[in-house]
Amino acid sequence: MLNTDKDKPVYPWGHERRFNAYSNYFRNIYGSRVQKVSIDAGFTCPNRDGSNGTGGCTYCNNDAFNPSYCLPVNSVSVQLEEGIKFHRKRYNEAVTYLAYFQAYSNTYASLKKLRELYEEALSFPGVIGLIIGTRPDCVDDEKLDYLKALSLKYYIAVEFGIESCYDKTLKRINRGHSFDDAKRAVEMTADLGINTGAHFILGLPGETRQDMLNQVEIISGLPLKTVKFHQLQIIKGTTMEIEYKNNPADFELFTWEEYLGFFVTFLERLNPAIVVERFTGEAPPRFLTGETWGKKRTDQIVGLIEKRLEELDTWQGRLYKDKR
Ligand code: SF4
Repeated sequence: MLNTDKDKPVYPWGHERRFNAYSNYFRNIYGSRVQKVSIDAGFTCPNRDGSNGTGGCTYCNNDAFNPSYCLPVNSVSVQLEEGIKFHRKRYNEAVTYLAYFQAYSNTYASLKKLRELYEEALSFPGVIGLIIGTRPDCVDDEKLDYLKALSLKYYIAVEFGIESCYDKTLKRINRGHSFDDAKRAVEMTADLGINTGAHFILGLPGETRQDMLNQVEIISGLPLKTVKFHQLQIIKGTTMEIEYKNNPADFELFTWEEYLGFFVTFLERLNPAIVVERFTGEAPPRFLTGETWGKKRTDQIVGLIEKRLEELDTWQGRLYKDKR
């Protein structure tokens, strides 16, 4: 903590919330709310089309995470228009937008194609930058140099699906890359000064709770600007659904109460410099099987985790040890 006034503590990230929150991070930069608008630009994925693997990651069903306004038959501009309309109904306050290239692997195309898609998004009124979700094996020097040049003028972030720090898990969920591949991609991107993010899934089969907790030290040592965590959810229509049905004992899905306790312990050890965008994933209930958490919405979950942090008088990074 920066100040020790018990009633109004201010943490290293410069505000009173007990974690380094994504929404506050943008407010600090732009002085107002910034809304992400998802785009499905019709990309595929090398882990599906046979160039690196087939069948995809065992938990993957992109439909479960794609908002209804994202239709790849529509152009980037039409999707932005629809998405902005959708968000305006919910939040009047948003004045600027980030185009979020979300579905599949959004750097998996020629540089020429990427330029067309990204620059169409950046020319849309109100769009101040791009968030690009991709795989560690879908970036190279040429693409990153281009993104670096864009980042001199716009907010540019590349978010890598890493999911686990353990190669045995990555193999088991058929990710088609190793943790070292992911680390290398993160370092290459961050070294160029591009905002670098990562996703991790907590609760993957074959990992004990202690294995999951031990990852926090590894994640804390990566040059990440932002991070998202999801609890494992079993999504219908995936290979993992079949594995789960065949052998449920192989999975230790978090109940909500378990996750709350686990995540607070995890957060206390996470590098306070890393901005946390999500604590949990929220696939629509119609896609889910196995352990579900009822009707809790993401904002309620954030509120409950913040309440627990307050009850325990703890915060992100309280037990973090800088080993870099
Ligand atoms: S999770 Fe991402 S990398 Fe894995 S199969 Fe789905 S789109 Fe491809």
